[in-house]
Amino acid sequence: MQPDLTKHFLELVRLTATDLPADVEKRLREARASEEEGSAAQGALDTVLRNVEMARENSTPICQDTGTPIFYVSYPLGWSIRALRSQIENAVVEATKRTYLRPNSVNSITGLNTKDNTGDEHYPTVHFEEVDGDTLTASLILKGGGCENVGAQYKLPNAELGAGRDLDGVRKAVLEAVYNAQGKGCAPGALGVAIGGDRGSSYAASKEALFRPLDDTNPDPVLAELEERITEQANQLDIGPMGFSGKTTVLGTKIKGLHRLPACYFVSVSYMCWAYRRRRMTFENGEATYH
Ligand code: SF4
Repeated sequence: MQPDLTKHFLELVRLTATDLPADVEKRLREARASEEEGSAAQGALDTVLRNVEMARENSTPICQDTGTPIFYVSYPLGWSIRALRSQIENAVVEATKRTYLRPNSVNSITGLNTKDNTGDEHYPTVHFEEVDGDTLTASLILKGGGCENVGAQYKLPNAELGAGRDLDGVRKAVLEAVYNAQGKGCAPGALGVAIGGDRGSSYAASKEALFRPLDDTNPDPVLAELEERITEQANQLDIGPMGFSGKTTVLGTKIKGLHRLPACYFVSVSYMCWAYRRRRMTFENGEATYH
């Protein structure tokens, strides 16, 4: 019989909301060291890092906006998706009661907050995929509202940007999104980028790209080079931590390519703020492990 994973999903939510991943914290510390001594940029990063430590110590949210919960669940053959969805919802409700999550789910028609982070079938968002083997993997990202607001989608070619349907056009579009975000998305953040797809699949893929660790390298050398170039050029924009100017505007860029219709060429940018909350849980042989 399929086990009840509610308590493991709850722990996944707790860790995601309160314990920033090691790769993100490391990159923030490197960013702090690279900023000018005594600058506003360094001060902002000092505050961010102190906040990260306190959240971890006290199991309190890293940011007051605990974001949209977006889950990706890969499950072995024979598991019930309905049961898993219900367990995830129960975990989210309990996490809200324990204040790991702020009540964030608002009915867009009535304006009423459900107060428990549930809502329609898209809140919380859960993507399911059946996989070979006996291991269940659940990944969670908590996507803040401020940084979600500065996400952008471009349709190439774009005459205003001088961006054609090629990778240099992609670079121009992504840098435009970073420039327009200025300090509003709580920089420094990470860029999840999708090239291609339709409007919906492209945005979804741009968020999936954010599950990659900051210190990995894209297996496609062409995209790896583009990721490096965009990060480097974004960091020359002098927007800096929280928009105070400085050397670190972007912690990293992760790009995913999708097939597309000949008529369409979308570039979707999901901006993830410094509160880059993502975690993964694997369940195997009755044991849960958190990463
Ligand atoms: S954008 Fe991120 S850091 Fe800024 S308020 Fe929202 S969740 Fe918090």
